[in-house]
Amino acid sequence: MKKVLDKGYVRLVDVMGSDLSVVNSARVSFNKATETLREEDIKLIHFLAKNDHTSPFRHATLQFELYAPLMVARQWWKYIIGSSHQDPFTAWNESSRRYVTESIEFYVPSESEWRGKPENQKQGSGAPLGEPLGKALTEKLLLQIESGMKNYDWAIEQGVATEQARLFIPSAYGLMVRWYWTVSLQGVAHFLTQRTDSHAQSEIRNYAETVKEIALEKFPVSVEALLKYTGK
Ligand SMILES: Cc1cc2nc3c(=O)[nH]c(=O)nc-3n(C[C@H](O)[C@H](O)[C@H](O)COP(=O)(O)OP(=O)(O)OC[C@H]3O[C@@H](n4cnc5c(N)ncnc54)[C@H](O)[C@@H]3O)c2cc1C
Repeated sequence: MKKVLDKGYVRLVDVMGSDLSVVNSARVSFNKATETLREEDIKLIHFLAKNDHTSPFRHATLQFELYAPLMVARQWWKYIIGSSHQDPFTAWNESSRRYVTESIEFYVPSESEWRGKPENQKQGSGAPLGEPLGKALTEKLLLQIESGMKNYDWAIEQGVATEQARLFIPSAYGLMVRWYWTVSLQGVAHFLTQRTDSHAQSEIRNYAETVKEIALEKFPVSVEALLKYTGK
């Protein structure tokens, strides 16, 4: 499990395949297979990625458990092809706040982590705001969470259904949520191309960099090749 932000993490649950699966699924056209990755296989993987022969990259699959603020999960949810609840071949499952199954946690940026508005862009962030203001922002966010959680706990005590009492949960964007993400190797590369980019929000970029580390450990040649050529 690799920690991300103050309370989140990325955990690889399972993996199917290796760089060899990409090679062998491409070579099945010639009824050939190999058990070790040779120089010519590495070249083949680069050739496939460069020329958009993407189907061999969909024979490998990764399954992650993610724990992240809701604002990050919402951005992640937009990856549909080969990677989400809307794709008939893969799945998206997440913990439910209709039940009281786990403690409620929030992402709270530390004093030094608040960022200002960007100067010339509509989206994104500018320079760090510094500590005097950062301290006030962190304190205000904590107060807001405390006040909302008091109302939530009160509603639960009154016997309100958890699925409705959750309307009182404050700071919904920062609420930590947990989900499983099963995704093809091609889907991972697509996600990484967009979400390790400097235009992506810094919080999801932290997660993407961690996913990239894990994907590179498991598929060093394919991930390098896909990131080199796809989306460019
Ligand atoms: C910096 C940044 C800012 C963003 N801002 C916003 C925003 O303000 N609001 C918002 O709603 N979203 C926003 N998004 C999300 C963005 O619009 C995409 O939904 C998200 O990045 C997922 O990418 P995708 O659509 O390529 O992925 P997928 O839906 O997984 O698609 C993967 C690829 O499959 C192909 N594909 C998918 N569907 C079809 C189809 N029907 N026909 C043909 N080919 C298809 C395309 O090549 C596509 O790139 C933002 C994304 C980024 C990276």
